[in-house]
Amino acid sequence: MAAYNRIVLLGPPGSGKGTQGAILAERMGVKEISAGELLRAEVRTGSELGKEIAARIDKGNLVSPELIVRLMVQAFLASENANGFISDGFPRSLEQAEMYEKIENTPEFEGKRIDLALLIDVPDEYIVERILGRSQCTKCGAYYHDKFKPTMVEGVCDVCGGKEFAKRADDTEETVVSRLRVYREATAPLIPYYENKGLLVRVDGTGPIDAVSERIKEIVKY
Ligand SMILES: [Zn+2]
Repeated sequence: MAAYNRIVLLGPPGSGKGTQGAILAERMGVKEISAGELLRAEVRTGSELGKEIAARIDKGNLVSPELIVRLMVQAFLASENANGFISDGFPRSLEQAEMYEKIENTPEFEGKRIDLALLIDVPDEYIVERILGRSQCTKCGAYYHDKFKPTMVEGVCDVCGGKEFAKRADDTEETVVSRLRVYREATAPLIPYYENKGLLVRVDGTGPIDAVSERIKEIVKY
């Protein structure tokens, strides 16, 4: 049993949260729940709600907290048989966190409350480089980075042998700056929030992916 089982990952866009979340979830054998993926899945359905979400994301805006909290509560409760979860991208604001906390304090969540907020600390100058270099295998979804995590054979996915890689449409310099601004204003206040609750632990997010994973392993003790 790991020291922590229901973990919220915090960190600026480009901190490696998504990558570390996937590694951590796999090694712990728990489900990684990405707020972004949940939203993109809704966008892919082409529903009215999906269109509204897409328009907001394109502008770097936040989706309504009620909607996000509803989606995440469903996802967290659905993972109850999987020993825990890793949450990437939620909560993204104090408003979301406080709304979620009210639900989390109900008996239904007894024994299922968030037990760690892990902050992946990365200096600003890393962020643009990190974001602009990353891509994902279109076949299996494995993450890569031109500099920090290249494929072993150039142009071939290590996991599935796929040869097509995609960058996220919103991974441009302009949107990075906008996302950083949103992070500072909306998400960074979660750091003192979780600190006050005694749930925050910081981890140095610089250096190779494996080194960061090792640091995380020492904290989570899985
Ligand atoms: Zn692949």
